[in-house]
Amino acid sequence: MGVRGDRSAPRRTMGKMWDMAVVGGGIVGLATAWELLRTMPDAQIVVLEQEPELATHQTGHNSGVIHSGLYYRPGSLKAQLSTLGRRRLIDFLDQYRIPYALSGKVVVAVSADELPRLMRLFEFGIKNQVPQLREIGPEELHEIEPHVVGIRALYSPETGIVDYRQVALKLADLIRQRGHQILTGQHIRQIREESDGVRLIASSGQDFTTRYAIVAAGIATDRLARGAGFSLQSRMIPFRGDYLVMRPDRRHLVRSLVYPVPDPALPFLGVHFTKRLNDGAVWIGPNAVLTGARNVYRRGAVNPRDLFEVLAFPGFWRMFRRHWRAGLLEWYRDHAAAAYVRLAQRYLPELSPKDVTWGPMGIRAQLVDVSGMLVDDFRLEFHRRALFVLNAPSPAATSSLAIAEYVVQHAATTFGWTLDTPKDP
Ligand SMILES: Cc1cc2nc3c(=O)[nH]c(=O)nc-3n(C[C@H](O)[C@H](O)[C@H](O)COP(=O)(O)OP(=O)(O)OC[C@H]3O[C@@H](n4cnc5c(N)ncnc54)[C@H](O)[C@@H]3O)c2cc1C
Repeated sequence: MGVRGDRSAPRRTMGKMWDMAVVGGGIVGLATAWELLRTMPDAQIVVLEQEPELATHQTGHNSGVIHSGLYYRPGSLKAQLSTLGRRRLIDFLDQYRIPYALSGKVVVAVSADELPRLMRLFEFGIKNQVPQLREIGPEELHEIEPHVVGIRALYSPETGIVDYRQVALKLADLIRQRGHQILTGQHIRQIREESDGVRLIASSGQDFTTRYAIVAAGIATDRLARGAGFSLQSRMIPFRGDYLVMRPDRRHLVRSLVYPVPDPALPFLGVHFTKRLNDGAVWIGPNAVLTGARNVYRRGAVNPRDLFEVLAFPGFWRMFRRHWRAGLLEWYRDHAAAAYVRLAQRYLPELSPKDVTWGPMGIRAQLVDVSGMLVDDFRLEFHRRALFVLNAPSPAATSSLAIAEYVVQHAATTFGWTLDTPKDP
């Protein structure tokens, strides 16, 4: 069955013509495919993923925090979709019995100069309706996190923790159970929009023809958009985030989630402590270090094409001029765990360098515009018959089900689809 509301596009008689193709088998692509099949039950959908496994990149390499909407500028897409997405996610986790814990988070100010920023965050949190958010003093902080020090803090008891890979794999199961296909090992190297559809050309030598394509390829989305003829003034810059892991006998020093007061210009910097869901391990990080390879989880990795694209982009040099000091410090701490621990000791004085070892890493897909500013908000772009999810940084995992709703509703308006009201959550 075709897509209702669009009578213009004739079906191909040669080869299979899909109604919808989603490029990218991370949590955003899978949530979008799930939303498409719930709202367009007759459409034939395929998900195309380059890796042999789903959720291999950002979705499988993150902190696992269910954010509560504290950090995002009120009115921004991030603020709207993280608030809604958090609710949708928790309903989904309950419905499909996926383990999670609302273990709570403190955002800690350790010096007086951080207090105005802490208060600004509190105002954002109130406007974004963060559940039960409150300001606390050092005594209450001590009750919640006995080993953490600070002069003032915000407490968000309903911030939580989950394994996003598990969420993505559940979405994939549901998509397959409804009879739709998820094809792994299909690296899409080019997207060609034609008058009656979209041709997705895979490195495997296979072509996929579809009426519409939604591209949620994480760090590769900008490249695919440019290849499709989209004139893009911004680029993905890959930032590696490394974690230190606390020794098992020191895990008791952190009960849940402990965060610093963020710098609004570089909100992902600063030491975060995260108690993980599955094994109770405590991760410290991630930091943010520019990396020369988009998909390689190793220090010093370089992919010539990835590196060239970064260096040839004027926005990178403008960003570098603005933030080189912070960048060098991050790089230094990435090579000297003791320096990273010194930063962590501001919050957890009992921590010592021998309590930690380097652990896993993730690579952030961060869109940077030509003026060198990090693009903070989620961003979608349309191009004839394709929609590109261009910027989906943190908290896109928390927000994924709401991002999917937003994507499908906007695509429906732009492309003239008729949507059903979904029957199940
Ligand atoms: C270190 C780190 C910590 C984070 N912590 C949190 C957190 O605690 N909470 C939170 O909400 N968010 C967090 N995030 C952000 C969150 O992980 C991402 O925003 C989210 O996973 C994005 O999902 P995605 O599906 O867009 O991207 P991805 O998971 O990267 O998926 C993109 C997929 O597209 C595939 N792909 C790429 N190119 C092609 C191609 N050409 N053809 C076919 N397939 C292709 C990739 O293989 C990949 O599977 C964190 C991110 C990082 C890096």
